[in-house]
Amino acid sequence: MVSKEPTDEALRSLIDHFPKSSLLISKEDLIPYSFDATATFYQPPLAVLFPSSIADIQWILQWAKANHACILPRGSGTSLSGAVVPQKNSIVLSMAKWNKILEIDRNNLTILVEPGVTTQSVQEEADKLSLFYPPDPGSYKISTIGGNVGHNSGGIRGLKYGVTRNYVLGLEVILPTGQLLWLGNKCMKDSAGYSLKDLFIGSEGTLGIVSKVLLRLIPKPQERQVILASFSTLEAAAEATSAIINAALIPSALEFLDRKTIDCIEQYNPAGFPKESEAVLLIESDGHPQAVRDEIVCILKVLQLYNPLDIKIAEEPKDQEQLWKARKVAFSALARKAPTVLLEDITVPRSALAEMIRKIQQISSQYGVEIAVYAHMGDGNLHPVFLADEQNEDLMEKVYRAMKEIFLYAIKLGGTITGEHGVGLAKKEFLAYQYNKEEFQLLKSIKKILDPDNLLNPGKIFD
Ligand SMILES: Cc1cc2nc3c(=O)[nH]c(=O)nc-3n(C[C@H](O)[C@H](O)[C@H](O)COP(=O)(O)OP(=O)(O)OC[C@H]3O[C@@H](n4cnc5c(N)ncnc54)[C@H](O)[C@@H]3O)c2cc1C
Repeated sequence: MVSKEPTDEALRSLIDHFPKSSLLISKEDLIPYSFDATATFYQPPLAVLFPSSIADIQWILQWAKANHACILPRGSGTSLSGAVVPQKNSIVLSMAKWNKILEIDRNNLTILVEPGVTTQSVQEEADKLSLFYPPDPGSYKISTIGGNVGHNSGGIRGLKYGVTRNYVLGLEVILPTGQLLWLGNKCMKDSAGYSLKDLFIGSEGTLGIVSKVLLRLIPKPQERQVILASFSTLEAAAEATSAIINAALIPSALEFLDRKTIDCIEQYNPAGFPKESEAVLLIESDGHPQAVRDEIVCILKVLQLYNPLDIKIAEEPKDQEQLWKARKVAFSALARKAPTVLLEDITVPRSALAEMIRKIQQISSQYGVEIAVYAHMGDGNLHPVFLADEQNEDLMEKVYRAMKEIFLYAIKLGGTITGEHGVGLAKKEFLAYQYNKEEFQLLKSIKKILDPDNLLNPGKIFD
């Protein structure tokens, strides 16, 4: 682990090497790079570097090694796991200005981008060619492709289309040693040995710095329809979800919002969600027009079995847009409700959804902690949101205990402590509950092989 602070001489060599415009070192300038979107972590870095070339990155890696510092790659800093909160002697390596789209290959349906390109830009670029880039984290307007790769980000469309990993065909990566690698290719199939590329996806900036990403695009679905179904209990909505999956229906999105979340959305960005319901499901079907119509009919049949209070179908793009916009502001709407709002992220097998939701409700009342829940329900990916207050130590202690119990229960049901936000700082103490000793050791040995000097984002995922 990094221990000593770099000497004044070492800092001088850093300042002398880079032009003023590419290095931030004043206390004020470092503030925005001292945290991410998690509420409870803060630590200023030593400096922030905006590299202008691979050579700059290789130089700073060498400098960090020689001067007991470490390097933290950063996109837009929207991580929800503390993964881009610096360690004490960190240089933040901001890749946000590496935001060029380098090539669109219409023949192969691929797009090559720099890591600082936003998710939205890739989606828009694909759309211009009637193509589609499905991964859509709620932060898509500002999150970067490098950050999406760092966390293997998912989103609303994960159910049918998968997550970032399913669209990454190739990565250019700089190892902590400075070695430049190109991993992957434009082929749709590749069985040549271990998939090194996949090691870096979801590695949270701990194994290498991603400098280019080759993404797969797919044809744009011709039609979409959205169902809004409301229920009088959370469990009915959860059971309806499991039944849809059990009927082998895979809509493009199947989202869940509980009463607390619906109320907050309606106060913040009214979308006409039914006021009397305890939970709603938002279900989207996309594809060929006839296939969409058939799928909607089948989904409606399943929903009817769970006594919905109401069902509406939004066929017009503007009505669909309004519903999805409301869903996408769920976190912002809840964030207004308490001084400290902690957005958590667990996934369980989809047959266990009702049981997990029951458990969250029970834990909430047992600890006297307010927990809202919204979810990428079709993926089994739940977001319990804790409405808390950092200043209230007693409450924070209860929140921590409630959270731990939720994570352990998810693991007990065969689930995971994170479906998309990663481990970072926030969850590293819980990782050992999910993996046994040997598996945990194997994770650590992968880090040791690729980053023997522990230069890249140390202290994240595990110590
Ligand atoms: C309102 C809101 C909604 C969100 N919704 C979702 C959601 O629906 N689904 C979801 O999955 N996440 C969601 N997130 C979390 C977050 O937006 C994603 O994890 C996103 O992919 C992070 O992108 P970023 O550019 O901000 O990366 P950062 O936060 O800057 O970095 C994320 C990780 O990637 C690493 N990294 C960044 N760039 C590089 C690089 N070039 N090379 C190597 N490592 C790199 C970092 O070190 C860090 O570990 C949400 C966050 C917010 C605030």
